[in-house]
Amino acid sequence: MTSFPLPPLSAIGILGGGQLGRMLALAAGRLGFDSVVLGPEQDSPAGRVASRQIVAAFDDPLALAQLSQAVQVVTFEFENVPAATLERLSAHSVAIAPGARALAVAQDRVDEKSFLNAAGVATVAFEAVDSAQDCVLAVSRIGTPSLLKTRREGYDGKGQVWIESPADATAAFDSLGGAPCILEAAAPFLRELSVIAARGRDGEIVLYPLGENHHESGVLRRTSAPATVAPAVAAQAERIAHQVLNGLDYVGVMGIELFEMPGEVLLVNELAPRVHNSGHWTQDGCEVDQFEQHIRAIAGWPLGPTDAIRHVEMTNLLGAEADEWEKLAAEPEGRLHLYGKRGGGAGRKMGHINRVRPV
Ligand code: AMP
Repeated sequence: MTSFPLPPLSAIGILGGGQLGRMLALAAGRLGFDSVVLGPEQDSPAGRVASRQIVAAFDDPLALAQLSQAVQVVTFEFENVPAATLERLSAHSVAIAPGARALAVAQDRVDEKSFLNAAGVATVAFEAVDSAQDCVLAVSRIGTPSLLKTRREGYDGKGQVWIESPADATAAFDSLGGAPCILEAAAPFLRELSVIAARGRDGEIVLYPLGENHHESGVLRRTSAPATVAPAVAAQAERIAHQVLNGLDYVGVMGIELFEMPGEVLLVNELAPRVHNSGHWTQDGCEVDQFEQHIRAIAGWPLGPTDAIRHVEMTNLLGAEADEWEKLAAEPEGRLHLYGKRGGGAGRKMGHINRVRPV
């Protein structure tokens, strides 16, 4: 059994080799930890900055045994970790944070919303949809417009289709390939916000100020933080974070995506049981960013301060936008973060820039 807090020179396992894993590995290194990244990609963005990289599939038994022996705690940069991976890691009795329950809840949109409602957290109305017939019935109850999403493995707006009229229900279900789905009522939100929260091993919870998010084609483009919010909205975000993180006995950083509705009401759209793109502003807006905060939490260290010391507008650099690095690096108020990816398709997240100003 691992005992906490982990001393420096302990090793942290990170599943996933993308930019979130990279920034976690960098934060771990700054606190004196080693990091071991496991992922299928040779020469991954995270693998190149980690102390060590294991190139293997996420459910490779041998690789998971190797990882368990090499590290004191395993964490994740993505939520769609196969169940077999978690079982294998648990069998090796290595500490896992966040835990299997948080991952399971976040992997399935119906389980996620059911958990939230049971924990006293409001969401849009929803119904599980397993067949075209279910879809017709669900549309008759929830009304239109409504949004049909696959229950599992949707991200960045993929696996979703709007239903504008009851006559479209069957075609909408078929267009998602017959996968188990959720039908959600449309949220006529004023804006999209998110909160990055962390819970330590001792149950302490801290929240960063809320960010306001702008999406294009389902992908996050910009986060502006701290967002200007009514005191009642900030108080609700705090209550939601406590209910969710305590309800899951969570350890680590979580991103909670919110819809701000008319009347200063917050609904939860989605939980991300990991560091989150909408929390990148904390790198240049706070003394302790979300990556260090996550490492502190899973290592059993005290959590760090979350106050904003600067206002930040974070813009994702997609595809060729990152080719402008020289110009971006010359912006006096810009803080450039590049992910070390070799070549990118049109929408690929290559980096981000945090444009700072005084709070
Ligand atoms: P998601 O993959 O659930 O985060 O959805 C991606 C984006 O679709 C969200 O950031 C919203 O802009 C939009 N969206 C998702 N669910 C709803 C909903 N129930 N009502 C209105 N817009 C939604």
